[in-house]
Amino acid sequence: MTNMRLIFLGTSSATPTAERGLSSIAIARGGELILFDAGEGMQRNFIKAGLGMNRKMKVFVTHMHADHCVGILGLLQTMSLQGRQADLDIYGEPRLAEFLHENMRIINFGLTFKVNVHAIRSEGLVAKERDYQILCCRANHSVLAYSYCLEEFDRPGIFDIKRAKEMGIPEGQLYSSLQTGKDITYNGKIIRSSDVVGPPRPGRKIGISGDTRPTDSLIAFFRNCDLLVFESTYGHDKQAKAIETGHSTAYEAALLARQASVKKLLLTHFSARYEETSELVKEAQAVHNNVEAAEDLSVVEVPYPQ
Ligand SMILES: [Zn+2]
Repeated sequence: MTNMRLIFLGTSSATPTAERGLSSIAIARGGELILFDAGEGMQRNFIKAGLGMNRKMKVFVTHMHADHCVGILGLLQTMSLQGRQADLDIYGEPRLAEFLHENMRIINFGLTFKVNVHAIRSEGLVAKERDYQILCCRANHSVLAYSYCLEEFDRPGIFDIKRAKEMGIPEGQLYSSLQTGKDITYNGKIIRSSDVVGPPRPGRKIGISGDTRPTDSLIAFFRNCDLLVFESTYGHDKQAKAIETGHSTAYEAALLARQASVKKLLLTHFSARYEETSELVKEAQAVHNNVEAAEDLSVVEVPYPQ
């Protein structure tokens, strides 16, 4: 069991408002922190959310617009002042490496930790850990942009101890072999893992759109997400503006979520023109039955699928 929750650190598009900071989303998964984008000034909400400056952490950048990546500089500075020791891994298109290395050369951050910048050169696998991976897919924005998925691997099925005892299998090494899917031979008899271990239990899948128009490849990429965070810069009456600027409307976000069989949709990246988002949510709810609007510092728990 690994707890996972998503924390919104910035939910405005392009320009901050009194209530909303620029794009940044954190996923706290066990002891690790996985950040998607870092708009200017995001470290203030990072501190408010109590996320911790020295934990294992990766940052994934969707695209090189200032409101999505300039905040990394402030974050590096703040983390250094707080004495971070752990390496920081940052992923994005090749110009992100150029941007960060130039800034680190010019500005003396007094870095107290190592920054590893990874250039993404193709779609697919971006980072892999023991029990989850991060994948990317090309988005459709005004510049090169990526959407991301965090996908947990299946967990082993539930071990039926009662059944194992009934079969006379002694506890210990044989149990763990069976639990990890290996068949064993005991007292000259073959015991299959599936005799005592239930079917694998699916992990969770979270999608992060970044800035984009809806596309068919994103429908496939986000298929069956337990949680999808999709940009909703405009209401559908501004669809022409959304098309012109490479963004989506709330209605379009919900339609894509429905087509991808997404369980829960969270709207974010609202144009500063919207003082409140109830109309956008209503518009999306007309096509998807589980929609909420993100607010700065709102926290969403991500339970395992039933
Ligand atoms: Zn953008």
